[in-house]
Amino acid sequence: MPVRRIYSFADPVLRQKARPVGRIDTATQRLIDDMIETMRAAEGIGLAAPQIGVPERLFVAELDERVYVFINPQIVRLSAETEVAEEGCLSLPGYRGAVERPTTATVRGKNRRGKIQTIEAEGLLARCFQHEIDHLDGVLFTDRMAPDAVLKPVEQEEPASPIGDRR
Ligand code: ZN
Repeated sequence: MPVRRIYSFADPVLRQKARPVGRIDTATQRLIDDMIETMRAAEGIGLAAPQIGVPERLFVAELDERVYVFINPQIVRLSAETEVAEEGCLSLPGYRGAVERPTTATVRGKNRRGKIQTIEAEGLLARCFQHEIDHLDGVLFTDRMAPDAVLKPVEQEEPASPIGDRR
């Protein structure tokens, strides 16, 4: 299970709309395993396939010792209530910015066995799911920052709370 290179904001693959995953085969399973390894190696809480250069609608996440795999995910419900929180991205290391997002998100898609799952996520997990699904549409968190919000450099020694992709 090799750790893959994470593409940065400058890579065009992060700006394109990813295509739906067709058959879930052994190559898909390998891709999922690599994504989980890559996310863990980078100390992230989420990773979308375009972030490793694969323009397919697939993301992984890991929070509170639970791993999530979503293939062809769709947001089926977002709460009216929103929350502003600082967010970061494995494709933009060293920076954070405040992003307003709905506090609850219900996401439906296939798991790695091809079974449809629906998960109602709250708080950080909801933010992570929305952030990863944005990646599948070529949207980056900086696009969602308020016009007057600024990207802030993160100090290495700063005890970081998990946000967006990043732990
Ligand atoms: Zn990201």
